[in-house]
Amino acid sequence: MSNLEVQPEAILCGAGARHPGIELLLPRQVPLGGPRSMNVRRTLPQKQRSLIGAWCFLDHYGPDPVGDAGGMKVPRHPHTGLQTVSWLFSGEIEHRDSAGFHAIVRPGELNLMTAGRGISHSEYSTAQTGMLHGAQLWIALPDAARHMPATFSHYRPEPLSGEGFSLSVFLGGLGVVTADGTDRYSASPVSTHTELVGAEIRLQPGASVRITLKERHEHGVLLDTGALRIGMDELCADQLAYLPPGSQEITLTAGSHPARALLIGGEPLNERILMWWNFVGRTHEEIAGYRRQWQAEIGAEPAEPGIKRFGEFPGGGPAPLPAPALPTVRLRPRG
Ligand code: MN
Repeated sequence: MSNLEVQPEAILCGAGARHPGIELLLPRQVPLGGPRSMNVRRTLPQKQRSLIGAWCFLDHYGPDPVGDAGGMKVPRHPHTGLQTVSWLFSGEIEHRDSAGFHAIVRPGELNLMTAGRGISHSEYSTAQTGMLHGAQLWIALPDAARHMPATFSHYRPEPLSGEGFSLSVFLGGLGVVTADGTDRYSASPVSTHTELVGAEIRLQPGASVRITLKERHEHGVLLDTGALRIGMDELCADQLAYLPPGSQEITLTAGSHPARALLIGGEPLNERILMWWNFVGRTHEEIAGYRRQWQAEIGAEPAEPGIKRFGEFPGGGPAPLPAPALPTVRLRPRG
């Protein structure tokens, strides 16, 4: 992937942040797999950070002309113990899952899939999609909720707009303080299993927005386009800034181009999770069990008795994705 900006802005992106506690996390390119598959920029998890609140995974992609890059073609695959958020800036993705939900994911709309004890789904960019651009995020479910039945929620937030800014809060709630000192607040009605926040922020060139934060929460800001100053730190496109708990507010200021960012955050999960392939669990044995069950349910390994964890799926589509081999060393939890 390449920068598609016609007039890229020259910004100095230091390796280290100036504000104490802020970490700048750089993306790595990861192919989604399969022939002519697209690449994504992954900022979570990484060596120095596994979680921001319960957010445990962040893939950012595009803008990709679907004709060149092939678009998103992810056949049926499983998940456990997590929720997925698909958030698009442009294009459309068709989602289908074993809990019986079928949705067209569109820009500016939350599509939240809760895997709970197990789900399988497929994701394909639609034929009408010219340019695909967005993010997929995962949320680890806390122990109390991770065995719940699979479900799906859809929500289209009404943007909260002010002088030069617009905020679409798709999970949790977020406040802004406007230039005349007025407090305004926007909240999503979609319930979460730990305290979380997720929002898209748009700023006009040079504009600022003062956002109030829950002091107990940690936060991350992923910059999609433009340049952004967070307090004294400059954030470049595709970078994720981590803000530790303890801040009551942040001021985001756009550079000389329009800026668009995602803000994520929440109360620290305080649970050690084990993430491997598409599964979130707690122990090596649990993950190995999910893998064995998935392989059995798609006919790649001998069938196992009992209820299908990953549900029934409409037939006729491309073959499901088999799980990779487990590493020869034991998987160890993080967080
Ligand atoms: Mn998935």
